[in-house]
Amino acid sequence: MIQRSKRKTKIPFYSFRQINLDIETKVKQAFQDVFHSGWYLLGDHLDRFERSLSNYLGVNYTVGVGSGLDALIISLKSLGIGKGDKVILPAHTFYATVLSVMHTGAQPVLADSDPETLNMDPLQAERFITGKTKVFMPVHLYGLPCPMDTFLKLSNAYNIQLVEDFAQSVGASYNKKKCGSFGKINACSFYPVKTLGAFGDGGAITTNDPGLAGYCRKFRNYGSDEKYYFEEAGLNSRLDEIQAAILNEKLRFLDRWIQQRIKIASMYLENLKGIGDIRLPLIQENSDPVWHIFPIRTNKRDQLQNFLIDKGIETLIHYPVPVHLQKSFQKYIKTYKAGDFPVAEEIAATELSLPIYPGLTDDEIYYIIESITSFFDK
Ligand SMILES: *Cc1c(COP(=O)(O)O)cnc(C)c1O
Repeated sequence: MIQRSKRKTKIPFYSFRQINLDIETKVKQAFQDVFHSGWYLLGDHLDRFERSLSNYLGVNYTVGVGSGLDALIISLKSLGIGKGDKVILPAHTFYATVLSVMHTGAQPVLADSDPETLNMDPLQAERFITGKTKVFMPVHLYGLPCPMDTFLKLSNAYNIQLVEDFAQSVGASYNKKKCGSFGKINACSFYPVKTLGAFGDGGAITTNDPGLAGYCRKFRNYGSDEKYYFEEAGLNSRLDEIQAAILNEKLRFLDRWIQQRIKIASMYLENLKGIGDIRLPLIQENSDPVWHIFPIRTNKRDQLQNFLIDKGIETLIHYPVPVHLQKSFQKYIKTYKAGDFPVAEEIAATELSLPIYPGLTDDEIYYIIESITSFFDK
């Protein structure tokens, strides 16, 4: 349990101070533009943002929707996934990944993670393929890209569609190609603290397939292309004009912000090596991570977290309970039990996320590193 410190937090886990300072003028202008346009949904700002994000990611189509969870659900629906189908995804991910599969009526099949990269292990995923497997859903967790060449090979060999959950990896690349451009259709999130964050909820779907993009455009708008004619049983899940206008401005800063995250990560990687029993994240070969989260692992996780609270440093755990042990999941599928995914369970028991965001100063980073070092020197 996290004990609230009597002492004031000196370094919060996340802060918008630098990001908001960078964009304040532009965001106020963007808001003014939408305010005066009198057009708040499915307008020019969304068109423009969808085109800029497509360019940035190197895909033909982007469809803005209401959240990352909706982006995943609509992506799966566009592939016709539903009852009777199986989707293979990691046992260690943010729970929304698995919720998306549950909402289509399909069966989530979990695969364990690689103990070094913390992402779904393709060899584990391959073990669970059956005739009913329709989709692989790799998650580029923490901003660390998955080995997409292996997933593409599996996808081709078994004729299984790839859907990337790149909610934590907007801006990351594998083999110099952006996450979110490998799968048949892919989903990301603009939840405020993600690498590209909105001022509220938002998400996007990316694809090179015009048919799938068209389906998603309809689906986010009640399943309708033309007012009062409904072709699909869709949702109301639209990225609104204010969010789109703001995201378009934030996208211009994304690479700068990512560079700052990379710099912080390299300081952690260099200075925390060999300290106590700390295990640092291993960067997959040929990949350029964006460090949405900086995960370390230690068997003294809870003690370290409490020690850091007393030092005024806030950390978080991503995530304390693996997917197969969540109550909601156990109500849906009764076959999994503790011990089934040793790596996912080990990560849940030992992971600790350190502060990492644009604007964190060198002094603050060294203070965090020194505090962690002093904990293990005790
Ligand atoms: C944030 C996140 C989502 C869900 O996105 P929301 O916009 O919060 O609905 C899905 N998958 C992963 C891996 C995430 O980190």
